[in-house]
Amino acid sequence: MSEENCIFCKIAEGAIPANKIYEDELAIAFHDITPQSPTHVLIIPREHLESLNDAGKGDVALLGHLLWLAPKIANQLGMAEDGFRTCINTGADGGQSVFHLHVHVMGGRPMTWPPG
Ligand code: 5GP
Ligand code: ZN
Repeated sequence: MSEENCIFCKIAEGAIPANKIYEDELAIAFHDITPQSPTHVLIIPREHLESLNDAGKGDVALLGHLLWLAPKIANQLGMAEDGFRTCINTGADGGQSVFHLHVHVMGGRPMTWPPG
């Protein structure tokens, strides 16, 4: 299952430590190492998928699961009521730097639009 040299696969396996806040059979969530907001969490599938570009029809339920988790985790961290931002960066122009699909969940301050 693990993709060689993928940092998020290694975090999912527990081979590299992360500040985990949630896990289930499909996904795990942990705090971003370089937070861009007071609370900044990443939700990743256990399965290695490079990006949204690599998600197929068979991944629809998994994608739904990741998005479904976002407000649960936001609530767990106390930011559901004030609001939060979810973001999935895809590819170079999307600003993706780690090529294992992840959903950013950010909150704890008002967000601006448009993003940089
Ligand atoms: P991207 O730029 O691909 O959308 O987001 C990747 C995110 O992963 C960045 O916000 C970055 O700070 C975070 N990140 C990169 N390496 C690690 C790591 O080893 N541990 C954790 N917790 N976050 C990481
Ligand atoms: Zn991976």
